[in-house]
Amino acid sequence: MMADPTHSKPEPGAKPEPGAATTGPLFARVALIGLGLIGSSLGRVMKRESLAGVIAGTARTEATRQKALELGAIDHAFDDAPGCVADADLVVICAPLGAYADIATAMAPGLKPGAIVTDVGSVKQMVIRDLAPALPDGVHLVPAHPVAGTEHSGPEAGFAELFEGRWCILTPPPGTDARAVEKVAQLWRGAGSLVDIMEAGHHDKVMAITSHLPHLIAYTIVGTATDLERQLQAEVIKFAAGGFRDFTRIAASDPVMWRDIFLNNREAVLEMVGRLTEDLAVLQRAIRWGEGEKLEEIFTRTREIRRSIIDAGQA
Ligand code: NAP
Repeated sequence: MMADPTHSKPEPGAKPEPGAATTGPLFARVALIGLGLIGSSLGRVMKRESLAGVIAGTARTEATRQKALELGAIDHAFDDAPGCVADADLVVICAPLGAYADIATAMAPGLKPGAIVTDVGSVKQMVIRDLAPALPDGVHLVPAHPVAGTEHSGPEAGFAELFEGRWCILTPPPGTDARAVEKVAQLWRGAGSLVDIMEAGHHDKVMAITSHLPHLIAYTIVGTATDLERQLQAEVIKFAAGGFRDFTRIAASDPVMWRDIFLNNREAVLEMVGRLTEDLAVLQRAIRWGEGEKLEEIFTRTREIRRSIIDAGQA
């Protein structure tokens, strides 16, 4: 595994983290449903770290399945979900959230007793809502969210180092078998991630402010620029380095994925939009009335947040 410069190395002689060094594969057979940025990255790191004996994969289109095979992210491609999950010890859903309910219904008859079903979706309460009812008894559901990604999509966009030094949040429903949770945690530790466990609703609130709201703001700003009259628009592009450029990167994120995130984390996002609107009004008022001290105080506080993110190795 590549060294992560943001985290200190273990002391010499210290016990290795579970999953980081296994004698045999952690899972004999893994099925990946969805082979885009996240699915193909997971396939590659599982291969590199010998976390899976055999990796089966499926995606909506033949082109994606073939590409994932060519890239070595999977060993076998299937054009149907039940075929892909047959005999799998671990199933990882790496598809857009809007496809989950149909995937669950389609794959359920193929799942073997004792299998673990997990996912990588960016919203977690809806995962339990859409997956749990379709799963047969004796199959363990351990939802997960790797807080790692880029604005690119598709199997070619994936890379084995994507999850290194990043958090992966597990949101097992109450009563989930602790051994199943630990095996999924080992998978992500093996992929180089730091693992945290959280209640699904809490996860969705945290993500609403740290990820979903920033994307909504980026989509809004870039949308506003798109609506400007032509001459002003040309200058926005020319002088983009003034801050706008960073928003355009976020606003280039996959439209289907983000549509599904907002539709499936509606309440938490609307709550954060409400708070933002109030805070924006405070700034608006301070600018209008020339309250320099107030502006400086707010901007000083926000600068400290940036420092703590750098200190936490998440910059
Ligand atoms: P992506 O690159 O667009 O890949 C999505 C994959 O899902 C594609 O292989 C697609 O197949 C497949 N798919 C779509 N509908 C399907 C269906 N009904 N059955 C089987 N496969 C289907 O997306 P991604 O970025 O990897 O995101 C996947 C998941 O990861 C999402 O739930 C997202 O919330 C989560 N996530 C994303 C990020 C990020 O930054 N991108 C970060 C953390 C978590 P085709 O290519 O054939 O259409």
